[in-house]
Amino acid sequence: MTHNPMTEKFHALLRERGRSVTRARTLLFEYLQQSGAVSMTQFMSDNVAVADRASLYRTAGMFRELGIIEDRIIQGKRLVELSDDYDAHHHHLTCSVCGRTVAITTPEIEDLLADLGRQHGFSVKSHVIEIGGVCDDCSAKA
Ligand SMILES: [Zn+2]
Ligand SMILES: [Zn+2]
Repeated sequence: MTHNPMTEKFHALLRERGRSVTRARTLLFEYLQQSGAVSMTQFMSDNVAVADRASLYRTAGMFRELGIIEDRIIQGKRLVELSDDYDAHHHHLTCSVCGRTVAITTPEIEDLLADLGRQHGFSVKSHVIEIGGVCDDCSAKA
């Protein structure tokens, strides 16, 4: 099996925390790298072949506890996604009609927020920015 650097980092964390590196855990991690923000329902149905429901829930719980995934509220829906430690920091554009989510990286926003913080004597550690709108496909149908 070939591993990308994030998978190596994930395996290192599991070992460090005394958890074993299993095929199922690796597959679920790699699934999350592909899926982006995903609902638990989607996560469960996409991974029925990987493990049974109880194991999938347990693994998601362990990932959350170890800071591998985080909950995000996007358009009022609770989704899970890899944390910034395992995925490049990004924000989401979400279509309010079809629910499609696109991950975007915007260094300008990150720099601006850091600057704003500094101007107010803050070292900015976190922020939440979610952008809603209507995608081109849905606009064309309207
Ligand atoms: Zn749409
Ligand atoms: Zn950001």
